[in-house]
Amino acid sequence: MEKFDVVVVGAGTAGCLAAKTTAEAGLKVCLIERKRKEGIGEKICGDALGEHHLKNLGLEKPQGGELEKRIEGIKIYSPDLKTVFTVEHEDFVGYLLNRRLFGQWLLKEAVDEGAVVLDYMLCLEPVIENGFVVGVLVKDLKTGKKVELGCKMVMDASGFSAVVRRKLPEKMEIEDKVPNEDVEACYREIRQLKQETEDTKHCEIYLNQRITPGGYTWIFPKSGAKVNAGLGICMRGKFPNPKNQFYKYILTRPLFEGSLLLSGGSWYDPTRRPLNNMVGNGVAILGDAACLVNPIHGGGIGPSMLSGYLAGKTIIEALEKSDVSQKSLWSYNCKYMEMYGAKQAGLDVFRILLLTSRDEDLNYGMGYKLLTDEDVLKAGLGEEFHLNITETAKRVFRGLKRIRFLNKLRLTVNMMKQVKAHYGNYPDAPEEFRKWRMRTEALFEEAQSKLME
Ligand SMILES: Cc1cc2nc3c(=O)[nH]c(=O)nc-3n(C[C@H](O)[C@H](O)[C@H](O)COP(=O)(O)OP(=O)(O)OC[C@H]3O[C@@H](n4cnc5c(N)ncnc54)[C@H](O)[C@@H]3O)c2cc1C
Repeated sequence: MEKFDVVVVGAGTAGCLAAKTTAEAGLKVCLIERKRKEGIGEKICGDALGEHHLKNLGLEKPQGGELEKRIEGIKIYSPDLKTVFTVEHEDFVGYLLNRRLFGQWLLKEAVDEGAVVLDYMLCLEPVIENGFVVGVLVKDLKTGKKVELGCKMVMDASGFSAVVRRKLPEKMEIEDKVPNEDVEACYREIRQLKQETEDTKHCEIYLNQRITPGGYTWIFPKSGAKVNAGLGICMRGKFPNPKNQFYKYILTRPLFEGSLLLSGGSWYDPTRRPLNNMVGNGVAILGDAACLVNPIHGGGIGPSMLSGYLAGKTIIEALEKSDVSQKSLWSYNCKYMEMYGAKQAGLDVFRILLLTSRDEDLNYGMGYKLLTDEDVLKAGLGEEFHLNITETAKRVFRGLKRIRFLNKLRLTVNMMKQVKAHYGNYPDAPEEFRKWRMRTEALFEEAQSKLME
């Protein structure tokens, strides 16, 4: 049986970056993917990527077929469509990608560094010996045969399926389940319009709790009068079917009259804080498998690539020391929390507020500038923002008996600060983890009980 240094499960954005990073260092890397090679990169996705994510990782800007459109910023519409925030900042400048070609380009980056790709190969579960992950059991979809692939390290980059993470021993203290209310059920279509949209420079986001409870609708421009349009709905309690909502409320808009369906489908987006811990003996969890998605806008391509890079670098060091224990891999947790996780966790508090906000609250909140375009920008950048509660706004909200919403907003800003500070103290080693995790759970229970009441 061939033995690899590293087996990466899943050739999405996280997996390709992980394979590229580890192969570049001369490690023997195997990338397993259940799709056929030519389908790698295809994904039900909004296809939007901020330019800064590529810059931070030293990756080239998309320029060939993988680039559909350059984007100058985003527009966010209040539920009554009366207020529009336009956010234009270098961090919101980016691209609408051809997702398959972008994925193929990333795959080539990994292959060029020497990673071996085994496509049409389904990973079934991790192989565990003496408390260490030492390989994976895979099924060759061409022959139907099952084989074990041995290795020193497994990286779970299988996206929302999290095929390895779900089958790890409890002792590793990696959450195996993600609660439904932390996941958005999405439906998305690529459509050919009869003519180009009026604004082809901005990604449009529409808030509306009636149509998309706990989520939003997006319409993103692509090349040649095509759009990527879809919606996400929080899977909390009894929630409406995303495809039905899309057909009933979105496709009936004049914009889509006479449009043609090019492709469509459903998938899930884990919009929450990162897993508390992403490493165990011989194993690291990346990308969507570790819930590394921006909780507010659901963007996960950037953080998934970052996790592939950071986990890859950590594994290179661990293998140099011939120590792949949880302790030796722990710095991946620390680095990710510092670079993106603390911001993600702060925004998760904001998401909890949005989950139960009513459309009227959002209309007034945006209309009376309790939150401004600049606040949205700062929140998006992970910076602190203050509430602009003017006397007029207070009077209006008192008159409307919406003072509770005002107080909830204040509480949210306060809790976001507490959560970010807590993540700034992420433990340096596993020994301190339990105490930190208990405090995390207490903070989020408090946020839920106070903001969702
Ligand atoms: C509808 C929707 C819209 C989105 N819009 C955006 C957006 O506009 N911008 C953005 O940045 N993010 C967006 N996201 C999130 C983004 O798509 C993900 O965060 C990102 O793709 C995560 O990358 P990943 O590599 O972790 O997982 P994935 O891209 O899901 O890759 C996982 C790979 O693992 C493979 N795999 C799974 N199981 C197995 C198995 N058992 N064996 C072998 N292979 C397996 C899969 O085939 C896949 O290739 C959106 C998500 C959804 C659902």
